[in-house]
Amino acid sequence: MHKKIYNRIKKYNTIVIARHIGPDPDALGAQIGLRDIILHNFPNKKVYAVGAPTAKFKYLGTLDRLNDDVVFEEALLIVVDTPDKKRIDGVNVDLFKETIKIDHHPFIEKVCDLEWIDDTSSSTCQMIIEFCMKTKLEISKYGAERLFMGLVADTNRFLFNYDNESTIKTFDLVKKLLKVSKIDTTPLYSNLYMRNINEMKLQGYISQNLIITENGVGYIVLTDEVIKNHNVDSASAGNLVNNFNYIEGVLVWLMISEDKKQNLIRINIRSRGPYINTVAEEYNGGGHKYASGARVPSYNEAYEIVEKLDSLCKKYKEELEGDEKDENK
Ligand code: AMP
Repeated sequence: MHKKIYNRIKKYNTIVIARHIGPDPDALGAQIGLRDIILHNFPNKKVYAVGAPTAKFKYLGTLDRLNDDVVFEEALLIVVDTPDKKRIDGVNVDLFKETIKIDHHPFIEKVCDLEWIDDTSSSTCQMIIEFCMKTKLEISKYGAERLFMGLVADTNRFLFNYDNESTIKTFDLVKKLLKVSKIDTTPLYSNLYMRNINEMKLQGYISQNLIITENGVGYIVLTDEVIKNHNVDSASAGNLVNNFNYIEGVLVWLMISEDKKQNLIRINIRSRGPYINTVAEEYNGGGHKYASGARVPSYNEAYEIVEKLDSLCKKYKEELEGDEKDENK
């Protein structure tokens, strides 16, 4: 697979790299990092990283506009970090001569001619690191920094739960990346974890008002009023979900944030117990086993999600207790 992808990159003079709507550092890091690495190895190619920019993550780099001289019929499209067609930002897959998908989400649908999907990988950035290590692509310093930031963000600083083999692979690839690129990680962590005081105050509000259900779901409803009073936007409010891991008794936690501008409610869910992506999928969302999201039309659906997550936690705890009893027999 690596070789097939490498050969296609080598073959095309024009390459467009796309990712999902509402991008996070993994999507942007993979996209912008890969663009830089391709240009570093093939300076004469035209490589574009496309999609709507996000002010919050501008430290990851700039994005490109596709000008009129791009001939899609002769170009290669690489879609990163996106499992389904409807969430691809800024391009029409059907226009391209050839298409490749590189993604670590659980499979949803076939979108591209060539698909490399590895849902045991911590991040799409990890897959790009692996790809570079296994092919002749030399990793540029700028590219290495983007890939490192994306991987760190998607693992929440190596906190997320993967099986032993996957964790070893992640650390091994990070070790190799640091060795070849010699990047300084301190400023990269500052980029990722610097928050403004308004977000910190909102985090305090969430801590004070988090509701915890009977079976261990922690949730907070952030109305437009609360979000406005704290002077943050609803996407940043939802991102705070990553800061609520390891609360005793809380297995699953979510932010329910109103987005008045888009007339919807954003749901950001995390888990250190049951798999949650199935519930997100029921509400036209999706994601990973332990990190998922959805956008729902009203608070009713949001409360339904809380109830379903609570049932999941109940079942999860009962199964755990059952396993413990079996072990003690
Ligand atoms: P977030 O909470 O926004 O950081 O998202 C966590 C994960 O869930 C990411 O992998 C997203 O791609 C995925 N996700 C978030 N929102 C949606 C959505 N509306 N539809 C499908 N997947 C989503």
